[in-house]
Amino acid sequence: VNEFELIRRFFAVQPVSRREVALGIGDDAALLEPPSGMQAVLTTDLLVAGVDFLPGADPVSVGHKALAVNLSDLAAMGAEPAWYLVALVLPRVDESWLAGFCEGLYGLARRYHVALVGGDLSRGAETVIAIQAGGWVPRGEALTRRGAQPGDRLFVTGELGGAGLALRHQRGECHLSVAEAATVADRLERPMPRVLAGQRLRLVATSAIDLSDGLLSDLGHVLAASGVGARVFLERLPLPVVYRERFDELGWDLALAHGDDYELLFTVPQANLERLEALREALDCPITEIGEITAEEGLALIDRDGRLYTPRRAQRGYDHFA
Ligand SMILES: [Mg+2]
Repeated sequence: VNEFELIRRFFAVQPVSRREVALGIGDDAALLEPPSGMQAVLTTDLLVAGVDFLPGADPVSVGHKALAVNLSDLAAMGAEPAWYLVALVLPRVDESWLAGFCEGLYGLARRYHVALVGGDLSRGAETVIAIQAGGWVPRGEALTRRGAQPGDRLFVTGELGGAGLALRHQRGECHLSVAEAATVADRLERPMPRVLAGQRLRLVATSAIDLSDGLLSDLGHVLAASGVGARVFLERLPLPVVYRERFDELGWDLALAHGDDYELLFTVPQANLERLEALREALDCPITEIGEITAEEGLALIDRDGRLYTPRRAQRGYDHFA
């Protein structure tokens, strides 16, 4: 099976097509027609076997997650996702792996109506998946890390720590029953990017980021970019049920520093809280207020007794080069 045959079999016929794609897969490059009044939003993410996923991981999950992490970055900008490119390095031709990978990839692409517009295939020692994704946001309405203001309330979507708990279970570092493990497995393997929430938060939130590296690390980026500080009330963190049940064993650190949850963290000024309340019903995920932005720089974590909490390990989130 040669490269062109693989492309024809797995990538040539696409489940999603979009109006703004004037020319998609099959030429030297794709042509896009930007909708008027929109700014293009671009992002890229790499997944490396043995670093970002286990070489034996279910290819359906790998395909899903490879696109999900990119859509999560677009969601954090308030963008409507529209298209993506896939570059793959494979150690060998494995058609059943590719079929699974495409099943996961295209399942998510269909759900959010994003069109594959190009890609490349090559051979290398390890599987490497590089996806670039793009979308559109009305000019001037993108959410960034920079807009948080003192007095803004701090919110997260969904739950925190589920992906970290699932990974710990997979590594045998903590025992969950089959039923318990099933409640958090998808958080690690098939995270759902908060695409709808991101778009609805435009003109409501003052800043946003997606939680890929852990709350401490990602909130730190927002605080640094905005030149502010924050107070987070730990007892308000939305933890999965199975996490709460094992809280004595797990403590706060999984929710604070593990990452991989792909929830959105965002700030909302007092003046927009009513608009946020009105949105709540329309979102496909819960949102929880966890703290507030302060003029004084630095991050204060407040525990149940109102005391300042210092994370057990000086974890600042996931770092590929640590
Ligand atoms: Mg991000």
